[in-house]
Amino acid sequence: MTGDPRATLALDDLLVTTSTATASALRAQVPAHLLDQADAAAGDARTLLGRVAEAMGKPLRDLHPAAVDGWLRLSAVDALRGFLDGSCRVCLHNPTPRRYEPIFACAWWPGLAVYQHCITLLRAPNQVADATCDRCGRVCAGPATGDGIHPLTLQLGALTFNAGACLDCRPHDMGQL
Ligand SMILES: [Zn+2]
Ligand SMILES: [Zn+2]
Repeated sequence: MTGDPRATLALDDLLVTTSTATASALRAQVPAHLLDQADAAAGDARTLLGRVAEAMGKPLRDLHPAAVDGWLRLSAVDALRGFLDGSCRVCLHNPTPRRYEPIFACAWWPGLAVYQHCITLLRAPNQVADATCDRCGRVCAGPATGDGIHPLTLQLGALTFNAGACLDCRPHDMGQL
């Protein structure tokens, strides 16, 4: 983990506990051009994820952050925090909140954020990593034995975050997307 993990907890707390009215008040503090950029990037991220979901035949679901399993939400929030405070590693396109576009990160490469062009950088480094549960660390035997990794995708603003969970750790109420 890079940067300040306390900032991750503060950001997570904000996401989980902030009421709609407070969120509106916070948005009113942000300069309009920055808000427009962030909203546009989040909209683009959602469009991209929607296409993937459609190709996979899985519906997109809007969940309140509090409804997402804590381990998964905190991993995604930590990735977002690392991007926002500049402490994460990035691809050569130098993703930065000053040029807000959809960004991608994953549980198996913590501290790395890339733009869409470089999404192949997020491939798991080997088959063992590909079969490792991001929650409990167990290496699954493989889909052929009924013990495969379930892919999980979470979108948080402009960030699309991927993780994989074993059958025991898979958030059952979220489906696979
Ligand atoms: Zn790139
Ligand atoms: Zn697991």
